[in-house]
Amino acid sequence: MAALLTGRTALVTGAAQGIGLEIARLLHEHGARVALADLDAERAGKAAAELAAAGPEPVLPLGCDVTDETSVDRMVGATVERFGSLDVLVNNAGITRDASLRKMTVEDFEAVIDVHLKGTWLGIRAASAVMREAGRGSIVNISSLSGKSGNPGQTNYSAAKAGIVGLTKASAKELAHRGVRVNAVQPGLIRTAMTAAMPPEVFAEREAAIPMKRAGEPHEVAGAVLFLASDLSGYMTGAVLEVGGGRLM
Ligand code: NAD
Repeated sequence: MAALLTGRTALVTGAAQGIGLEIARLLHEHGARVALADLDAERAGKAAAELAAAGPEPVLPLGCDVTDETSVDRMVGATVERFGSLDVLVNNAGITRDASLRKMTVEDFEAVIDVHLKGTWLGIRAASAVMREAGRGSIVNISSLSGKSGNPGQTNYSAAKAGIVGLTKASAKELAHRGVRVNAVQPGLIRTAMTAAMPPEVFAEREAAIPMKRAGEPHEVAGAVLFLASDLSGYMTGAVLEVGGGRLM
């Protein structure tokens, strides 16, 4: 397969593990120089070393808290300083703090909104400042099917992930004339540490309801992100791609 991102620079948040790591791996395999940013700087370093050993393009691990304005601006600045450009940003970092409305605290609500919604907004703001000057760029935001359907026990997470769709569309409209595209991916049930935390019977019940009758793997989300990051999707902006095995279509 021809490399789709030769000569491009990509920055992925929450890239130390799970879906973010598989996204970083696939973009790197396709010729991109990749910065892996994560709250867990040590694990980001290990992930970066793993990628660097697998291919020729340089890799940069970065410690970053996506809820912090200064930290996000530094993350983008460090990537541009090291690689000289920024062509792709993937806003992937995420957390869950599941609880029913009776039990969810304001802290649970704010923590989830902060990481997903504010973190994605801060990333878009910082990256688009660089991309609009360059006249090109692709931003991919990781939403969730939970933001389409609403999940009980996830009023915070569903609100944040639905918010990411609105944020994607509004920024796509603002940035289209500057050559910067903004799209989103809505994964369904994917096998990662995040879903390993679910009670097994809930996981099995959700899996049984999927038309393809199985959970997805992180690399299957990465494929959709690669498409949106590359010129193959050059006429797409403000789009939301569902990667859910047919769930909630
Ligand atoms: P994960 O928990 O395996 O990985 C999330 C990563 O984000 C971790 O490395 C974590 O350290 C990092 N992170 C958390 N808070 C951060 C912060 N403030 N700043 C920087 N990094 C931070 O989760 P995952 O399953 O790989 O999820 C990745 C993304 O995909 C998330 O946005 C999640 O909501 C979304 N998603 C996951 C699923 C699923 O089924 N796993 C489904 C739909 C959407």
